[in-house]
Amino acid sequence: MADPRAISPQDLEEAVLALLGEVVDAEAGTDVVAGGQVYAVVATGGAVRVLLDPERFPNEASQAALAETVRPLVESVPGVERVVVKPRPRCGTLRAQLPGVRKVLGVHSGKGGVGKSTVAVNLALALAARGLKVGLLDADVYGPSAPTLLGLSGRLNATRDGTQVRPLEKYGIKVVSLGFLLPASQALIWRGSLVDQGLAQLFTDVDWGGLDLLIIDLPPGTSDVHLAVARQVPLSGIVTVTAPGQVSVDDVRRGMEMFADLAVPCLGIVENMAGVVCRRCGQESHLFGVGGGADLAQQAGMPLLARLPFFAGLAEASDNGRPPVVHAPGSARATPFHNLAAQVSAELKIEPNLVG
Ligand code: ADP
Repeated sequence: MADPRAISPQDLEEAVLALLGEVVDAEAGTDVVAGGQVYAVVATGGAVRVLLDPERFPNEASQAALAETVRPLVESVPGVERVVVKPRPRCGTLRAQLPGVRKVLGVHSGKGGVGKSTVAVNLALALAARGLKVGLLDADVYGPSAPTLLGLSGRLNATRDGTQVRPLEKYGIKVVSLGFLLPASQALIWRGSLVDQGLAQLFTDVDWGGLDLLIIDLPPGTSDVHLAVARQVPLSGIVTVTAPGQVSVDDVRRGMEMFADLAVPCLGIVENMAGVVCRRCGQESHLFGVGGGADLAQQAGMPLLARLPFFAGLAEASDNGRPPVVHAPGSARATPFHNLAAQVSAELKIEPNLVG
């Protein structure tokens, strides 16, 4: 039997879609992928979700019948460990493409304080260093930190016609943060109906002016904010940040499954603060043992995209708006972010066109 770990979630999704593309809906006369009855296929490791679009079926019985047909077919694909067939999420606003934005990536974590924003900011900068046009939307309603991490403050200016706002710019990336809109003390009360309304405005009212990638720094955990984001924005995927000691497979898995249910795949895991690098000798020691992130990635069935050690002084540099990718380029602090950027841009197929 094929080793499921040898097959990437993307390959699995393609294999399942190819198989389902052979299932023809007799009434419609088209296959169920082209006909839209299959809304999306999302693999989270070996667990495959087939999301059906209820609006494409004349009645519930025909939807149930297709679910019955699909399940054994998907189970037969090598590498598939578990199959869930369910209706697609009900989207208030159907995810319209953000004008001028090619792809959108969410950076997520199960818990706060694991370095999610640090990863989001430095990943954005490392992607910009590859020649990509990158935007960062800091949507962490519980504690927007992009302004601090980038040393950026100011007001968002309106476009000439007054219908949208322009992002601020720093170190070659465009930035919008809730921190520009609200005093820090108010961030916590931005909840409930304001979330849907406010986020919708953030997505439609910003003139990004042409981006290869928009990175969204999501709040930690699973909440109505995540649902609102996934409903309103066409996320190409998420990256999940974890830290040893705070790592809980359940937290990580819950987040991934929430996004998978919303037809958003997880590209992989970033393990942060995995070991401690000595400032003097550069040696790395492991407080929590070696391989925690790799174990977690294996249990969750996701690739481990990067392992970042705890760098003494990074918190201070970050508090002063000096991200390592810009202020210590070529250093051991910056390298893991560049490696991560290379993987993300290859995965999302947003490599800049290299001029030969
Ligand atoms: P989150 O977004 O998950 O709440 P942050 O990115 O704000 O986390 O990081 C929390 C704190 O940990 C910050 O002070 C940050 O500078 C620090 N930090 C993050 N990653 C590292 C690292 N690899 N080494 C040292 N400090 C780190």
